[in-house]
Amino acid sequence: MRCMLLVAFALIATPSSAEVVVLRGARLIDGTGKAARQNAVLVIDGDRIATVGVAGKVTIPRDARVVDVKGRTIIPGLINAHGHAGLVVDGQNRADAYTRENVEAQLVRYEQYGVTSVLTLGLNRDLVFELRDEQRASPRPGATLFTAGRGIGVPDAAPPVPVAPDQVYRPKTAEEAVADVRETAAHHPDYLKIWVDDIYGKFPKMDPGVFKAAIDEAHRNKIRVASHVFYLADAKALIADGVDALAHSIRDRPVDAAIVQQMKQRGTFYVATLGVDESSFAFADDPSLLDDPFLAGALSPEVIAKFRTPEFREKVKADKNLPRIREALANGMKNVKTLQEAGVHIAFGTDSGANPVRIPGWAEHRELELLVRAGLSPMAALVAATRGSANMLGVTDRGTLEKGKRADFLILAGNPLEDIRNTRKLVAIWHDGREVKPGVEMASVR
Ligand SMILES: [Zn+2]
Repeated sequence: MRCMLLVAFALIATPSSAEVVVLRGARLIDGTGKAARQNAVLVIDGDRIATVGVAGKVTIPRDARVVDVKGRTIIPGLINAHGHAGLVVDGQNRADAYTRENVEAQLVRYEQYGVTSVLTLGLNRDLVFELRDEQRASPRPGATLFTAGRGIGVPDAAPPVPVAPDQVYRPKTAEEAVADVRETAAHHPDYLKIWVDDIYGKFPKMDPGVFKAAIDEAHRNKIRVASHVFYLADAKALIADGVDALAHSIRDRPVDAAIVQQMKQRGTFYVATLGVDESSFAFADDPSLLDDPFLAGALSPEVIAKFRTPEFREKVKADKNLPRIREALANGMKNVKTLQEAGVHIAFGTDSGANPVRIPGWAEHRELELLVRAGLSPMAALVAATRGSANMLGVTDRGTLEKGKRADFLILAGNPLEDIRNTRKLVAIWHDGREVKPGVEMASVR
């Protein structure tokens, strides 16, 4: 891991704040949902987009470095609004995994796969605020970090992840929850995370009085709240109490007209994380996924070899919840389509990094594919993963390719509107005006 990280640092081009770069000739999808521009001209000045237009209508600045990108497609950098960092090391969840080295390596991995911003939605040590503030003070390698800090879970229940005690709060009462939110607020988190789920009936759920108190206190501190959720009834209660984002699909049943209306009225964001359920069985169902060269850049050969073993497959198939997980995925796919068509705000996330089979970098491209399989158009999936996530974060400097926005974009060797898997054909990643080489060169498309 250390060796790969050093290589990654060496590959980052030296930023030149004064340089003006013009990329011309590509198809450009700007993340707003408007039709792609053909023969586009993108002018980058330092870390910002100076102009976007089409050839013949944009003045090319003198002394600009002009790069011909004819035949390529440019899309905004992906924004993962539900990720995690520092939870997995050497293919295992470990309570001692949350180190500076691991978190930074994972941010580099995200960036090398075109995820230019990530919201680490809970289970962070307070070190995360230091890392975020260092990034904000001066550019450094890796995806731009937004974070929810530790998050509010339940004693001896959700989230059932082996982390150190200083990675999640588990208040017993509403009063304790308020104190925990206040302690979090002192660090100025980008979101608050809460967990409302019984994990397939295994644990008691968070008391509604606790989540209401946490949401109210977060809002008093002007912090938005995202909740882990599974059941339709819990989602309705959370939205009624003002939660700003559902950080997973509703998966126990189809959504109904009442929640559609509730979400539209409240402006609640919805992050489907279809990969959460799919990753539970995908490699066991279809081991040929492990041959994907695009995956090889994101996992060590040892971990890939482990996922190929009969023991791994047998363990997956022996999970008594497997039929329910498959049903949950089917419900999640149906619901994201219903909500997107109804005009609910769709953002994008994967829960990558939460466990060994949710693979940062790879998971985001797989999620786009799953969203399209669920019935979203490739354009709708891309808009969710760019503008949708930026809107959920409440940031206006990224998510679309427009004048004045950050120069965060991906250059692809294929058109994702024809086949969403073409997002994997990464030629280059630009992040804050720096060019970053992809983790995997010209990956093949499955
Ligand atoms: Zn998560």
